[in-house]
Amino acid sequence: MGLEVKNLTGGYSSIPVIKKENFDVKDGELVSLIGLNGAGKSTTINHIIGLMKPFAGTIKLNGMQIEDDLKEYKQQIAYIPEVPVLYQELTLKEHIETTIMAYSLNEAEAWQKADRLLKIFRLDNKLEWLPANFSKGMKQKVMIICAFITNASLFVIDEPFLGLDPLAVNDLLKLIEERKKAGCSVLMSTHVLDTAEKYCDRFVLINNGVVRYEGTYQEIKTKYADLGNSLNDIYLSLAKDEKHG
Ligand code: ATP
Repeated sequence: MGLEVKNLTGGYSSIPVIKKENFDVKDGELVSLIGLNGAGKSTTINHIIGLMKPFAGTIKLNGMQIEDDLKEYKQQIAYIPEVPVLYQELTLKEHIETTIMAYSLNEAEAWQKADRLLKIFRLDNKLEWLPANFSKGMKQKVMIICAFITNASLFVIDEPFLGLDPLAVNDLLKLIEERKKAGCSVLMSTHVLDTAEKYCDRFVLINNGVVRYEGTYQEIKTKYADLGNSLNDIYLSLAKDEKHG
C-alpha cells in the first residue's frame, strides 16, 4: 500500500508552510521530492516521520495513521536525515545495538545484515569508534547502516547524495534498489537532479509548500518539452518562473 499523503497542511506556528499537499509513494517505488531551498521538503518529511503534527489532512502508511499506533507507525519508517544525528557517547556498535532495541529487531538477523553493510561501507573495523572520530561521510554511513538493518517498509532519505563519496552513493543506490524489489517504498528529497533523473520512478515538485506537479520523468519531459532536455533544465525554468511569478 505504501505512503499516502492527502490534503496535508502544516507548519511551525499557526501559519501553514505546506498547503494541501497530495502525493503517494507506492510499494516498490522511489519517489523524489524536489523544490528550491525553503520549498517545504523537510517540513513535509517531518510530518511524515511524525516529528510534526499536521494542521489538517492525513498521512497513511500501509493504511495506518500515527494516531492508530505510534510505536508501530514509527517502526515502519527508517529515516536518514541530511545531517547525521549520532549520540556522541555511543560507539558505532552501540548505535547498531540501540537501533536493534528501538525497532524490536531479531538480534542475530540484524547483526547479519549489519556485518554485510559494515563491509560495504568499509566500517567493519571501526565498531568501537565514537562519532567524534568519524568524518562527515562516515557519520552518514552509520545512519545508512542503522536504517538498512531495520525491517521498515518506508525509507525516508533527506538529500542522500551530498556528503557521500561516489562509491558510497553507488552502494546506497544498490541498497535502495534491493529494498524496492522487496516491496519497500522510498521517499527522498534531493537537489542532485541528474542522479535523481536516472534512478527515481516519480517526482513530486514542491514550490512554496504546494505540490506543483507529480509524475514520472517521461511525463515531466512530455509536459514541459519546450523547457529543456533534462530534469535539471526543466526544473530550473519552472523554478525561475515561480520565483518571478
Ligand atoms: P532546503 O532545500 O533548504 O532544505 P526545504 O524545502 O527542506 O529547503 P523547509 O526546511 O521545509 O524547506 O522550509 C520550508 C519553510 O519553513 C521555509 O519558509 C522555512 O523558513 C520554514 N521553516 C523551516 N524550519 C522552520 C522552523 N524550525 N521554524 C519556523 N519555520 C521554519
